[in-house]
Amino acid sequence: MFEDLQQSLQALHDRYRCLNEGSVAAYIPELSKADPDGYCVAITLVDGTQYIVGDQDTQFTLQSVSKPLVFGQALTTAGRNIVTALTGVEPTGGSFSAFEDLDDEGCPLNPMVNAGAIVTASLIPGNTHEDRTKVINDMVAKYTGAQPTLDQAVMDSELRTGDRNRALGYLLKDKGYIEGSVTDALNLYFHQCSLKVNTQQLANAAATLANHGVNPVTQQRAVSTTYVKDILVVMLMSGMYNYAGRWAYEIGIPAKSGVSGAIFGVIPGVMGIGVYSPRLDEYSNSTRGIETFRDLTKQYNLHFLGPDLQTTDHIIDPNT
Ligand code: GLU
Repeated sequence: MFEDLQQSLQALHDRYRCLNEGSVAAYIPELSKADPDGYCVAITLVDGTQYIVGDQDTQFTLQSVSKPLVFGQALTTAGRNIVTALTGVEPTGGSFSAFEDLDDEGCPLNPMVNAGAIVTASLIPGNTHEDRTKVINDMVAKYTGAQPTLDQAVMDSELRTGDRNRALGYLLKDKGYIEGSVTDALNLYFHQCSLKVNTQQLANAAATLANHGVNPVTQQRAVSTTYVKDILVVMLMSGMYNYAGRWAYEIGIPAKSGVSGAIFGVIPGVMGIGVYSPRLDEYSNSTRGIETFRDLTKQYNLHFLGPDLQTTDHIIDPNT
């Protein structure tokens, strides 16, 4: 079924490498330094076969793509009862850093928005920042197959401009959703967002979730099979900012997007897809990334509801 994958990826790359809509995120100043024309597409199958086209050496920060991974780590260390008492699983319909992302009690609506991600970061155990970052780095390494490095310039930029995240953190502490130090939780949150990967590593991370939590290239387990569904459900409902509904409707792949221009998508039992291209649309999703996934889902019938339930663009016989 995937014999032609490398040629398909090349054709996709040729099709979209001149799509110049959107702009690179600038609200974290360091991110604006990314080459707007960077573009890379990678796939890792659950048998470990890897495919890639484009800027394969370019590294970028995980940003919000780290959120589902840290959610899984919080589930692993704190357990489902505690984690789901401290963050919901409801889509927000708001911005990823909005105060409206909290319910009437002050509980984050889901772990894919900043509020929920700051809570999951607060659940990572360790006595020092170094202990906690080691837990995160080692976990990310199992997903990607390589020890991640920190982009210190992005981290510093986030620390300088992250007052909204700080405000969310203190609100969460006041409402009882963060137990320990807000500063510790935020420092870990900024750290996880500032870890660098390349696009093949991004695809490997997605393939790990597609492969029940085991990295299909290294055979290392990154997360228990028990928690893979928790992660994929929140990715499907809330992984693509305020485009999540349209994404589920048209593309139908549990996925997570980050403001660096990364998107990773999981086709359970089949493959992981990683796309990097930093020009973002009005929802903060990579413009080339969206188009790349749209074509891939059509070409290979990747929608989670299967090929029998295609959305069509023409009026059809109501009896069929
Ligand atoms: N570090 C970014 C922030 O907190 C992550 C945003 C994102 O990728 O959605 O604003």
